[in-house]
Amino acid sequence: MASSDSTAVVWFRRDLRVTDQPTFVAAAGSASRALALYVLDPALQAPAGAARRTFLHRCLRALDESLGGRLLVVRGDPVDVVPRIARAVGASSVHVAADYGPYGRRRDEAVEKALADAGSGVELVRSGSPWFTEPGSITKSDGEPYKVFTPFSREWARRLPTRQDDEGMPVDTDASTLRWMDPADKDGGPRAVRIPDDEAVDAELPAAGEQAAREQWEAFVDEHLTDYDDLRNRPDRPGTSRMSVHLKYGTVHPRTLIADARGEGTGAASFRNELCFRDFYAHVLWHFPRSARENFDPKFDRITLDTGKEAQEKFERWKDGRTGFPAVDAAMRQLRGEAWMHNRMRMTVASFLVKDLHLPWWWGATHFMDLLVDGELSSNQHGWQWAAGSGTDAAPYFRVFNPVTQGERFDPQGDYVRRWVPELAGIEGKKVHQPWKLPSPPADYPAPIVDHKVERREALDRFQRL
Ligand code: FAD
Repeated sequence: MASSDSTAVVWFRRDLRVTDQPTFVAAAGSASRALALYVLDPALQAPAGAARRTFLHRCLRALDESLGGRLLVVRGDPVDVVPRIARAVGASSVHVAADYGPYGRRRDEAVEKALADAGSGVELVRSGSPWFTEPGSITKSDGEPYKVFTPFSREWARRLPTRQDDEGMPVDTDASTLRWMDPADKDGGPRAVRIPDDEAVDAELPAAGEQAAREQWEAFVDEHLTDYDDLRNRPDRPGTSRMSVHLKYGTVHPRTLIADARGEGTGAASFRNELCFRDFYAHVLWHFPRSARENFDPKFDRITLDTGKEAQEKFERWKDGRTGFPAVDAAMRQLRGEAWMHNRMRMTVASFLVKDLHLPWWWGATHFMDLLVDGELSSNQHGWQWAAGSGTDAAPYFRVFNPVTQGERFDPQGDYVRRWVPELAGIEGKKVHQPWKLPSPPADYPAPIVDHKVERREALDRFQRL
């Protein structure tokens, strides 16, 4: 029961919304008013890339508006600033959604300790997380982690709610669940900073904030969910939800998506399966934090990789979308143009980097994390390891994506390529996937950087030598 003059701090991190907020429920149970806090942490801001920082700042502005201008934004190391703020407002508890990433875990343990060391008995209370199932909560019957997706997904599916009052359904909250304290009433502690202005970002970013997430989601459910299974592999069609960035920043929680996608149809089932992949990779990272940086399968530590000057030049051509393979180049330019790339194309360009160019997967993963607005450590690093063959459940190394047939199959009319590679815009139909076969190929578009057949053989030879 909340006492009449007690204060809680609600520390937002990857949950920038007011609906479906377990932290609000917990804070309302222990305090009569709350301070809404966001900490701009240099350790997270620096590696985020301009697109993610700008998107985050836009989400913070939207959240501040939802809270009637009562979001306190400070800058600094949370281990230092959170206890000082708790002291400045006389809080008895600090409420967060649990962070299961390697950095977030360490940070939260250190904040918890700093709050305890301050001797004031302020508790760090974790309620919920950005995941549908808490990482680490699904294990084999002997307690060992799953390393293969399908059995994990069977266990995960058992957690799907069927009735309104089942666990896993959205929590009923909004901005009025708590009485928000005016940050100006804070007595001392770190000073408030303005939410930073947008940075210069070349990419066109999606609309930010909780309202934008809801609108995007509702449009997807109305127009594309039913056909999702048929169209989710088509980069030339708007058939996927574009929810990844909203899930990254928590402007929507997977509970809400799952509640709306509970239906029996193949579209809904396939969509839930993709959300399950998201949880699977979060579980893998929780159990094996080293997999963010190292081969999950250590056998791959011994594979021969190219790293010299020529390799660097190829890497630059891959990043610039000038490999001479239209589907690969279209995707790499979509990444620059939208700070997002279609999943099918992420797999295609990743396979190309690793198996046609023989470059380290982490070069590609780092470039993705620089540019992606939805860049998320567990999905990105394990998506890359999947493509490289070194991950859990990985694509077998001998399965080498052919960049031409991927294009012909999933962009059958060539619309995706023409949209992103203007040098090829005048080539009709699927011929656009092999411009080098035309009687007069466009002079301003490069010839293929490698011979796919030769490099495929080379990749297989390197694998054989392991
Ligand atoms: P939808 O098709 O609508 O899928 C719905 C949701 O399911 C997504 O928003 C996402 O949360 C989840 N999802 C779908 N596919 C996957 C998958 N393969 N792995 C994990 N979750 C999935 N996803 C990220 O969120 N951040 C990343 O940094 C990221 N990097 C990737 C790197 C590589 C090399 C690969 C192969 C995949 C990566 N993915 C990443 C997964 C996937 O490509 C994106 O989640 C998806 O393209 C986002 O678009 P969407 O929201 O329209 O997806």
